[in-house]
Formats: sequence, structure tokens, C-alpha cells
Amino acid sequence: MDVTIEKNLQDLWKVQQIDSRIDAIRAVMGELPMEVADLEDEIAGLETRVEHIQGEVAELKSEISNKKNAIKDFQALIEKYDDQLNNIKNSREYDAISKEKEIAGLEILSAEKKIKDLTAQIEAKSEVLTATEESLDSKRKDIEFKKSELGEIEKENEEELEKLGKERDAAAKKLDERYHRAYHRIRENMKNGVAVAAIVRNSCGGCFGKIPPQRHSDIRAHYKIIDCEFCGRILVDEHISGIKAQNEEDKPKTTRRKMRLTATK
Ligand SMILES: [Zn+2]
Repeated sequence: MDVTIEKNLQDLWKVQQIDSRIDAIRAVMGELPMEVADLEDEIAGLETRVEHIQGEVAELKSEISNKKNAIKDFQALIEKYDDQLNNIKNSREYDAISKEKEIAGLEILSAEKKIKDLTAQIEAKSEVLTATEESLDSKRKDIEFKKSELGEIEKENEEELEKLGKERDAAAKKLDERYHRAYHRIRENMKNGVAVAAIVRNSCGGCFGKIPPQRHSDIRAHYKIIDCEFCGRILVDEHISGIKAQNEEDKPKTTRRKMRLTATK
């Protein structure tokens, strides 16, 4: 066992742990603003929809008002025809005016039917409008909450990141410069930013590649820094990582017996 190697492994593991926490916080901080942006898009869409329906309702209302005016005009015409009918000179004139009066009456009926249709359309649109406005209202409350939550989380995370940054600098300072460089080189190549992996269930915690028993023993011996033969990550054993071995052969015999007893109960 090389004390310097063991210390460097501990320092590498520590730096990795801090960097992984920093990465996790940054990932969360990246997701929250996206959630707010999605909500903003939804709200803009609902606002457009509300405006559109309001425009349609206004158009229907103006159509109704036009029809009402037309009815008034036809009613005035009918009154005029009635006056004329009272002072009629011959039967041909009577028939002609009666015909005009009848047509005006039909126009009024048709306009009244149209008003009924338009009113039904307004009612249907108003229902959709109410539902859309309610949805908009709830989304606006959501975004208000999300924004204040985001502000708080960002503040907390900034503080946490500052603290972690200091811890990281302190840990990195203790680390041998060559290992620090190697750590960065490996980390840059890894999608998850993990350059130092713990051995979990006899496998690399980074790529899950199986570690042969001899290599595992060499890693445990702490006489040199050993990487994973599959992914190139630096491997640390259970002693460094504190992650308990999950294999039967690594467990103390008493635990094994106890587990077996529990299992047969
Ligand atoms: Zn690996």
C-alpha cells in the first residue's frame, strides 16, 4: 500500500463527489426555467384563444344588432303599408301592397330565426370562453408560484454552489497536479461528468463493466491508480468510496448467516 496513492484516491473521490453535486444542481437549475418558459408559451396560446373567441362573440353580437335594426325597418314598412291599405283606391293596388306587407312579415320571421341561431352560437362560444379563461387563470397562478419558487431555489442553489465551489477548490488543492489534470481530461470525455467511479457489485460504477478479481485486488491494494479497462474512468474501491460491497464474498459471514435466516422466515 502506498500512502500517497491512497491519499490521492481519497482526494480524487472527494473532488468527484463535489463536482457531481455541482453538476446535479446545475441540471436542476437548467430545467426549472424551461418549465416556466413552457408555461409562458401555454399562457400566450390561451390568451390568443380568448382574444379570438371574444372577437367571434363581438361579431355575432353585431350581426344580431343588424338583424334587430332590420326588424325595426320592416316593422316601420308594415306600418306604412297598413296606412296605405286604409286609403286604398283599387283592388290591384291592394293586392300589390298586401304582397309587400307579407314579404316584410316573412323578412321579420327570418330575421328572428337568425337572431335565435346567433344567440345559441354566442351561448356555446361563451361556455368555451369561460373554460378557456378559467384555464388561463389557473396557469397564471401556476406561473406566479413557479416563478417565486424558481427565485427561491436559484437563491438557495447559488449559495450552495458557492459553498461547494470553495470546498472543491480546497479539495483540488490537496490533489497531486498530474492526477488533477488526468481527472479533468477524463471528466470532459464523460457525458455524466464522472471521472472517478466507485466499484459497485464488482463492476465499474461508471460503465457497469465487470472488474476481474485480480484487478479488483490491485485496486484495493492502493499501490497505483487503476482505471476501468472499458471506459477509462479511475476506479476506487469500497474503502475509499464508503459504498458497501453487495456481493456475498465481500460480506462478513455473520451478516450472511443472518440474511439467510431472515430469508427463510
Ligand atoms: Zn468503466
